[in-house]
Amino acid sequence: MRLIVQKYGGTSVADPDRIRHVARRVSKAYNDGHNVVVILSAMAGVTDNLIDLAGQAAQSPDLRELDVLLATGEQTTAALLAMTLRDMNYPARSMLGHQAQVVTDRDFGNAHILEIGTQAIENLLTQRNIVVVAGFQGTDSQGNITTLGRGGSDTSAVAIAAALKADVCEIYTDVDGVYTADPNICGKARKIKTISYDEMLNMASLGAKVLQIRSVGFAKKYKIPVHVRSSFNEEEGTMVVSENSGMESVMVSAVTHDKNQAWITLNKVPDQPGIAAKIFTPLADRGIVVDMIIQNTHTNGQTDLTFTVPENEYDMALEIEKRVAREIGADDIFGKKEIAKVSVIGVGMKNHSGVAATMFAALAAENINISMISTSEIRISCVVDEKYTELAVRILHTAFGLDAE
Ligand code: ADP
Ligand code: ASP
Ligand code: MG
Repeated sequence: MRLIVQKYGGTSVADPDRIRHVARRVSKAYNDGHNVVVILSAMAGVTDNLIDLAGQAAQSPDLRELDVLLATGEQTTAALLAMTLRDMNYPARSMLGHQAQVVTDRDFGNAHILEIGTQAIENLLTQRNIVVVAGFQGTDSQGNITTLGRGGSDTSAVAIAAALKADVCEIYTDVDGVYTADPNICGKARKIKTISYDEMLNMASLGAKVLQIRSVGFAKKYKIPVHVRSSFNEEEGTMVVSENSGMESVMVSAVTHDKNQAWITLNKVPDQPGIAAKIFTPLADRGIVVDMIIQNTHTNGQTDLTFTVPENEYDMALEIEKRVAREIGADDIFGKKEIAKVSVIGVGMKNHSGVAATMFAALAAENINISMISTSEIRISCVVDEKYTELAVRILHTAFGLDAE
């Protein structure tokens, strides 16, 4: 008997028919004699709709109340799956985040899991129940409902799998696995059979939203094998495992994109020591992660500075920087949300100077302007106009020889 954690994403639970399909899949694992814990997302589109609703109710919704609202998406699907299973005569029970003892910090909308008390789930499993847990949510030490950031039910699943010492965590989604680029925009992307935690961390951090980055961090820390696969067929998906688990140690190459990017430019900033700290410290204090930074040096003691922030934190970042701009005497401040970051990962950046040249030439051939560039040993990223994202991903996939035959 194995302990299997299965997580189903929004498309897989989008309506009662699909929930019935999920119930049949869950019951199959149960009938095979395994203990099964199921983690659910909200129905596709529901979290977006709830955010929209909140925006209609309040100009700047209170973050605690927003989490109370957002958690209802997963409460709905957990209840629906449990009642579907019970209707099929399976002993299923739903649990909300607090019932499953998912304890988080108090960072509403972006909470981190601190611990998971396994007792309640284990009690139900001992009595051969199927346990259905609402993903994406937990409670802080005072019982306030929190949510884990977009895509957070992946993290609920892997964290619960780790706490229960599950044999495997299966992530059921709407694609067949992890691909060399988003298969929904790059028809020639290839499915990756096995990928290491570190390589998956790179892909997730550069925009491959098939797994939330924190879920990969948990999987790596607790060595939980993660199987990313489709809920719509029986095919083997992608195994995310540790490097020394017998896999060939070939670097995975992939192209990723991230539309959740925006930039802010400060014009004519005094070119003096301490200015950068004044600009970036208040962002760091609010937990806003700055990714790329470009600074041009001017001869007259002033400089322009441009940097990127996650688009969903752009409004907050701009507000903070308007204040900073006044303080340091910058001439002007403006920003742009319609940008995207495309990245080429893992093609041996360190040893092959031609990699950057190949990337720039491929983008130039399609007349795609590059606004910002950053490189590391394992990747090169370019910021482009958002409307070119899909084209850029496809041509880079071809340019780096990644296309399926
Ligand atoms: P779920 O609701 O199941 O969590 P998500 O939309 O969060 O699904 O994640 C699955 C999506 O991730 C796919 O539909 C695909 O568009 C996107 N994606 C982006 N990059 C990749 C990649 N490299 N491989 C697979 N899917 C990817
Ligand atoms: N429902 C949440 C979201 O849309 C969490 C998830 O699906 O993983 O972000
Ligand atoms: Mg997801």
